[in-house]
Amino acid sequence: MTSGFKYEIKHASEKGLARVGTITTPHGEIQTPAFIPVGTKATVKSVLPGAMKDLGSQALLANAYHLYLQPGPDVLDEAGGLGSFMNWSGPTFTDSGGFQVLSLGVGFKKVLAMDAQTFRSDQVIAGNKERLAHVDDEGVTFKSHLDGSMHRFSAEISMQIQHKIGADIMFAFDECTTLHNTRPYQELAMERTHNWAIRCLDEHKRLTEARSGKPYQALFGVIQGAQYEDLRKEAAADLGSMSSSGISFDGFGIGGALDKDSLGTIVNWVNSTLPQEKPKHLLGIGAPEDLFVGVENGVDTFDCVLASRIARTSAVYTMTGRFNVSNAGFVRDFTPIDEECDCYTCANYTRAYLCHLFRGKEMLAATLATIHNERFIVRLVDQMRQHLIDGTFYEFKADFLGRYKHRSGQASN
Ligand SMILES: [Zn+2]
Repeated sequence: MTSGFKYEIKHASEKGLARVGTITTPHGEIQTPAFIPVGTKATVKSVLPGAMKDLGSQALLANAYHLYLQPGPDVLDEAGGLGSFMNWSGPTFTDSGGFQVLSLGVGFKKVLAMDAQTFRSDQVIAGNKERLAHVDDEGVTFKSHLDGSMHRFSAEISMQIQHKIGADIMFAFDECTTLHNTRPYQELAMERTHNWAIRCLDEHKRLTEARSGKPYQALFGVIQGAQYEDLRKEAAADLGSMSSSGISFDGFGIGGALDKDSLGTIVNWVNSTLPQEKPKHLLGIGAPEDLFVGVENGVDTFDCVLASRIARTSAVYTMTGRFNVSNAGFVRDFTPIDEECDCYTCANYTRAYLCHLFRGKEMLAATLATIHNERFIVRLVDQMRQHLIDGTFYEFKADFLGRYKHRSGQASN
């Protein structure tokens, strides 16, 4: 049943949970730890797939919610699947749609970066926004952000959509809560996620057999439990040993409410409990300092829209921190964005040129800045992998974070 998909640990760190490995999919291998850039609607905004490959991207992740609404999963199925549709020959991931359905539903786009100390209520929604999603034990009913039409996702529907989209790695449908929810609600959501996980395995088994001519798609279970140690460990033990219709999860995603200060602690609880031999993906985390925390706590793959989203607002990463290249100070700065970067943009263009493009609202601005930021993050995690092999990860981390100045107020997703 799992033909074409496997994970092998190549090197385990002596200290902590960090490891180096290889995920094999029907569309190629991913050397881990790895950062997986996000192409929400089957495109990394403004960048050609060939350029993503050239900058070192080993795989891409698309969003089931967005592709369900447009163009619809049937179109992707007829096109031969996500990779074929978007002209990307490497491995692909899709999320389950649960995060988008629920986060758009409560009006929060950045639920993962919230402050744990703020007001908790199960009714809270972002200021003045209408609640667009309602959860019940069977699934989620939600209003499309595109045209206001009503839709429903359930475990089975999410599996059907993701099978049609055809990514190599899919995620089980889960209820993604926020740090604003109360403890009783977190418990209720975890119970639902448990039931939906079983239903996802059953539907996944059925669809895999019904679509036996298609490349095998791996299914990852998603661990919730917010900031509570007992809930996180219980969810990890539960999904880690879960079996239904004779199958178990191929890997795991760590999702839900994670605030920056406790990220490492929570990931450690989960990854210490999950089966060691299966791959772990940290959903929606991609700030440089958070990637170190994830890797040292046993995360194998990451995805995040941050690198491309901030690039389109002229924010670029460098080894000494991020800055806005459209600022007046760069009008006559004829140096590359980052002297130490090996990307196409830094090899061929200056800060002055990017400053000009952003100020002139030229489309090339987004392309060049995105290529740089994605290369920076992909390369950073590649460097972590090499330093794990060399036994110098913690020296590399100290050196990087000593130079990289995180500016407070930056969201981590
Ligand atoms: Zn660069």
